[in-house]
Amino acid sequence: MQAAVVHAFGQPLIVDERPLPDPGPGQVLVRIEASGLCHTDIHAAHGDWPVRPTPPFVPGHEGVGIVEAVGPDVTERRVGERVALPWLGHACGACRYCIDGRETLCEQQQNTGYSIDGAFAQFAVADAEYAVPVPAGVDPWDAAPLTCAGVTTYKALKVAHVVPAETVAVFGVGGLGHLAVQYARVFGADVIGVDVEPEKLRLARDLGADHTVDASSGDAAAQVQELGGADVAVVLAASAAVFEQAFASLKRGGRLVCVALPADGTMSVPIFDTVLKGISIIGSIVGTRQDLAEVFALHAAGRTRVVSVRRPLADVNDAMADVLAGRVPARIVFELPAVEREAVVLGPDERVGR
Ligand code: ZN
Ligand code: ZN
Repeated sequence: MQAAVVHAFGQPLIVDERPLPDPGPGQVLVRIEASGLCHTDIHAAHGDWPVRPTPPFVPGHEGVGIVEAVGPDVTERRVGERVALPWLGHACGACRYCIDGRETLCEQQQNTGYSIDGAFAQFAVADAEYAVPVPAGVDPWDAAPLTCAGVTTYKALKVAHVVPAETVAVFGVGGLGHLAVQYARVFGADVIGVDVEPEKLRLARDLGADHTVDASSGDAAAQVQELGGADVAVVLAASAAVFEQAFASLKRGGRLVCVALPADGTMSVPIFDTVLKGISIIGSIVGTRQDLAEVFALHAAGRTRVVSVRRPLADVNDAMADVLAGRVPARIVFELPAVEREAVVLGPDERVGR
């Protein structure tokens, strides 16, 4: 099978021929139909973060495809089912976080496209319990960006406990932000889209933002305050300065939701304002399987629209450069080369799912 592989940090990915992986106990083999490119994949390929993946590895944690085979002891998924392979590739299922509904905080977690090979490939092996079913009514091209960009922004609004008629400011209207704007609307909020690119501000308005703020034309916080300030500010731009602008845009009782991960991220927070204004600062990391099921249900109900462009997997390096240069309308989704059917050699375990 073909896969885009990181052989060394900071070097171009190489689209290589790799052996078809075998699903072990509790695992499924998924033929990937659509595979979204997330900023995290670029951080992974560059080895930007304190905990690094180990090359060679295959990035990609917005993989959507069809279960082609199941390993021993798989009861959750069946051959022929469409599933999504999100960032949370495995969690222990037994720790306090797994038990109380915060599985994305599990300390034993494995991450798709990071600590386990991901979806920039014709096939991927995944833990059956953490492969999330994609309902009929959500096509794979939309499902892919929803699998990280969607669930991450939906969860950010959930943890902020947005209530109708509050104001939500979305800082950064790209792959994540274009969905954040829509979820803020789903939660009933008045929405302010903040970005530096005129096209992104247009996109925010198209998707239902009530106001937009051009952060390239002066202090974004002051502009949000002129609109009355934000009850919730969601930060999706990987720049520490934007976190500080977002903090300064809040009203009393406001919540700052930190989602983006700048490689050298430290923000300075004024203690006096935090205390007197009763500000909460919340970190939000992706979402659970249940959050993703809710994201898919909202999409199937017509509540969200995914903006993406398709590119062949062979374009992976140019696609990453385009994301870094801000040349992408919202999300890039890779098309995988067609699979020669004889390439799929199914073992006896495959029958388990029939
Ligand atoms: Zn992601
Ligand atoms: Zn756990």
